[in-house]
Amino acid sequence: MKKEALWYKKLDDNSIHCLLCPHNCKIPEGKSGICKVRKNEKGVLYTLNYKKASSIAMDPIEKKPLYHFHRGKKILSIGTFGCNFRCDFCQNYEISQSDYYSSVVDIDKLINTCKKNPNCIGIAYTYNEPTIWYEFVLECSKKFKEAGLKNVLVTNGYINIPPLKELLPFIDAMNIDVKSMDEDFYKIICGGRPKPVMATLEEAVKFCHVEITSLIIPTQNDSEEDMTKLSKWLASLNPDIPLHLSRYYPRYHMDLPPTDPALLMKLKNIASKYLNHVYIGNVPGLI
Ligand code: SF4
Repeated sequence: MKKEALWYKKLDDNSIHCLLCPHNCKIPEGKSGICKVRKNEKGVLYTLNYKKASSIAMDPIEKKPLYHFHRGKKILSIGTFGCNFRCDFCQNYEISQSDYYSSVVDIDKLINTCKKNPNCIGIAYTYNEPTIWYEFVLECSKKFKEAGLKNVLVTNGYINIPPLKELLPFIDAMNIDVKSMDEDFYKIICGGRPKPVMATLEEAVKFCHVEITSLIIPTQNDSEEDMTKLSKWLASLNPDIPLHLSRYYPRYHMDLPPTDPALLMKLKNIASKYLNHVYIGNVPGLI
């Protein structure tokens, strides 16, 4: 099922300027953007993953992770395929770097699934990057809001501000990945830039509940300076923003050994000088 995309401009030579994310792709006719899920067909931009789901599951809200938003409740979690980043360490590369999907979803049926489970508060757009599923997420979040249910985005935050502003009135909570504060880390390892992610976060905290996840990779983004910079900046927005320091495991193109839990504890102690809620994730028995 393909659908015309939102947020693009036609250019003179039948090419397209996509305005959805900070890559701002110029897409020639017959080609797709960096995310590979938005394609120029005869001068019209189509979204290729509209309503296509790669995974649907009822998860505990803490798994998103969100620790300060309806704790103890469940959330219907759904993802599609594609991503606008190419992280070497991607923990979900089977769906983020492919076009695999297992079902075409019906939004009313998703709402019914939530309503049938008294412990379920709504839906989380997660597993892969939801901002490049924009048309579906916007439509679905409007209907969930009307039905009195919550919408949660688990995102890399790489979206332009105008489309973000259109979506935010329907979003109740976000977990935003801040992978590092370092330009080179984002550029070389993820294929992006940190500043647009920071801008998303600054906008999001005005509208909804926000928690942050930072996957700590040994020797790549684990310096005390990096953690001090990140936590000081978050504290300048609000020292109550929860920060989740997540343990990395070797995946995709990265084969460094898993993060030492002692390193995570050290970084947690640094971040806790500035922030009131710092957690360790992906290490059984540690929080
Ligand atoms: S959403 Fe996709 S096509 Fe659009 S600018 Fe971003 S990477 Fe390019």
